Amino acid sequence: MRFAHPEPSPASARIWPVFLPFAGCPHRCVFCAQDKQTGRDDADLDAVRRELETDLQGALNQGRGPYELAFYGGTFTALPAPWPETFLALADRFRKSGLISRVRCSTRPDCVDPDGLKLLAALGLDMVELGIQSFDDGALRASGRGYSGKMALAACAVVRDAGLALGIQLLPGLPGDRPGLFQSDVRTAAGLAPETARLYPCVVVRGTPLVDLWERGGYAPWTTDRAVHELAEALPVLWAEGVRVIRLGLAPEPTLDANVLAGPHHPALGQSARALALFEIIRARVRELGRRPSVLEVPRRYSGEFFGHARELAPTYFELGFAEGSIRFAETELFSLE
Ligand code: SF4
Repeated sequence: MRFAHPEPSPASARIWPVFLPFAGCPHRCVFCAQDKQTGRDDADLDAVRRELETDLQGALNQGRGPYELAFYGGTFTALPAPWPETFLALADRFRKSGLISRVRCSTRPDCVDPDGLKLLAALGLDMVELGIQSFDDGALRASGRGYSGKMALAACAVVRDAGLALGIQLLPGLPGDRPGLFQSDVRTAAGLAPETARLYPCVVVRGTPLVDLWERGGYAPWTTDRAVHELAEALPVLWAEGVRVIRLGLAPEPTLDANVLAGPHHPALGQSARALALFEIIRARVRELGRRPSVLEVPRRYSGEFFGHARELAPTYFELGFAEGSIRFAETELFSLE
């Protein structure tokens, strides 16, 4: 039998990230360590603009691109005036010269309003990634996010109604978490069919208010094993709705890695979760086959992640009935199981 990987195809343009740590944020969220994640502890917006302009001009001169410009790390829609307009005007200049194909930003669900977003859309914003974190009132309250699940849902509609593409970010394992909550959030997110999703299991980072709660025994982060299993369960649900999952876990960054005190922060978290999700898909196909499999041909582009981190899934494939050498990587688009 032949079958495709259910993951939607990746975007064509490369992302050009612009980090604005904490810029526009109404307060510091208990878990947030944008300073450690981005390696910058503040955002001097004028300095960021000047540096961005120089770098974009350099890229244009070298004939690079196109890129999707992405403003991350803060609350773009709540930047003081006229910064959103200033950054979008800069992006527009380089869009006209062909270097920039699209512009996205990240923001909070309580910092979007219909008129404001329509204005930003008219100025060239194409996509908004909402830091939803959870749709659950209890988890949002326990994490001090300052909005309800209903407001998070409404914010997604505001983004769509402004004609913008939607991205959803979830942060499972927050204070107030309970069994089944993340999978419920995933189903809600998938039902909204956003263009992209990012899933960042919560970790305890030095310098965040979460450290105090964790040290007092009031918060326990997920284990890495739980994170891998929960993410692996979430992936097919999102893929089934055509959602591109563009990040699993926080990106490794020396300043972050040195400051994570607890929680599922592992450089191979995403690889392990993707590999486990794929394993479950293949296990279902083997069940359909109804007998011991003899050969599995796998598209070569999955060879790096297929067996998971340090071949952790090799024994599991063996238990499923695959003999040594019966899994082969080939220049093919489809999986083939015999
Ligand atoms: S989670 Fe978002 S809103 Fe909260 S401090 Fe971090 S960047 Fe700002």
